[in-house]
Amino acid sequence: MTKRLYYDSSEMHEFDSVVEEVAPPSPEQSRPAVILRETAFYPTSGGQVHDTGWLTVKGGDRAAERLRVTEVADAENGKIVHYLEAPARLPLAGAAVHGSIDAERRRDHMQQHTGQHVLSAAFVELYQMPTVSFHMGEDYCSIDLATPSVSSEQIAGAEKRANQVVFENRPVRIRYVSRAEAEMLGLRKLPPAEHDELRLVEIADFDLSACGGTHVCSSGQIGSILLRKTEKVRQGTRVEFVCGNRAVRVARRDYSALSEAAALFSAQLWDVPEQIRKGVEESKQLRKQKDDALDQLAELMALTALHDQPETNGRKIVVRAFSDRDIGFAKLFAQKVTRAATPAIALVASTVDPPGLVFAQTPAQTPAQTPAQIPAQASAGAPGSTADMGALLKQVLSSVGGRGGGSRDFAQGGVPAGCNVNVEQLLREAAGTIGA
Ligand SMILES: [Zn+2]
Repeated sequence: MTKRLYYDSSEMHEFDSVVEEVAPPSPEQSRPAVILRETAFYPTSGGQVHDTGWLTVKGGDRAAERLRVTEVADAENGKIVHYLEAPARLPLAGAAVHGSIDAERRRDHMQQHTGQHVLSAAFVELYQMPTVSFHMGEDYCSIDLATPSVSSEQIAGAEKRANQVVFENRPVRIRYVSRAEAEMLGLRKLPPAEHDELRLVEIADFDLSACGGTHVCSSGQIGSILLRKTEKVRQGTRVEFVCGNRAVRVARRDYSALSEAAALFSAQLWDVPEQIRKGVEESKQLRKQKDDALDQLAELMALTALHDQPETNGRKIVVRAFSDRDIGFAKLFAQKVTRAATPAIALVASTVDPPGLVFAQTPAQTPAQTPAQIPAQASAGAPGSTADMGALLKQVLSSVGGRGGGSRDFAQGGVPAGCNVNVEQLLREAAGTIGA
């Protein structure tokens, strides 16, 4: 088993050791790796993320050669594997090395991890909400609480209590006890029965739990604890938080974003939500006004088109391609044409990207026909006879690989994006088919 130097000194960032095993890259593991006799590198476990750093070879002709440690993991046999940046010239087993841990990264992890102890204990103390899991990410950390929901008052309460414990600068101590002893001590969380000896982390007079991670020496070093959003998860409620420098960093980022928003509104920071509410309301009204105006415009354009179009065989056929209106407007126009007093057929297109076609006709009033009696083919000539818009649309689109369809009285379709199809030509073709 690798001796874990971080167990007794979380402040140890430099150490000397000896290479015990080397593993060159293999088909299963592309990165080379080494196992040391002892290490201060923390392997990913218990929610805390691994350390990174350097191994420097000592002595011999490879002296001072530096190897980058990019990941550290626990192996099943109690050994700790240091994965190295590939390609690396591996040291030989037995070589003396000096290890250096990225201190800033470790400091950050210790702040987050110890902050988690404090926060989890605060949720138990105030609301009897136990923590079931802990996750440390690149940007933020989270705990999952065994509770269906957490109110914003409870979030504020736990944050306040946790920061109080930080400000009191309570000592954080490590000690080892037997399992039997641990069971008497009333730990916040007792780990599964794997080991006879347990490593306890105690935040003086506040929290006692078994943990193998690295922690700061006093609660003041956590810096501060900032709670962020909550989210429902399968096992309860997830609470995001950040501690120490991360808390300062995200607060700075949020402030920048909020200031930028406030400047856009020429408002104070705290007025931004009200300004946004106003803006949303305004744009809703404007959208409504725009929709009403377009509806009136389509109505007027439809009436004008019908007025200009002579009636043939008891109906009017309006053919129109819009180059400055989208397919939504084309559809509205077709509806207005076919809902006016005179029976009509509207063959309408929009050439605005993506181009589309709308074919519509005034539904036949009388006599009531069963579908079997309606001619399948689009026909023209007989007064009041109707065509099949769905079939007509499919017919003209099939020649250009377009897609669309619909009912007898209304059909809509489009041509493939980016393909150079002349929709006006398609309209003329459709009009020709129905004898316009
Ligand atoms: Zn811990």
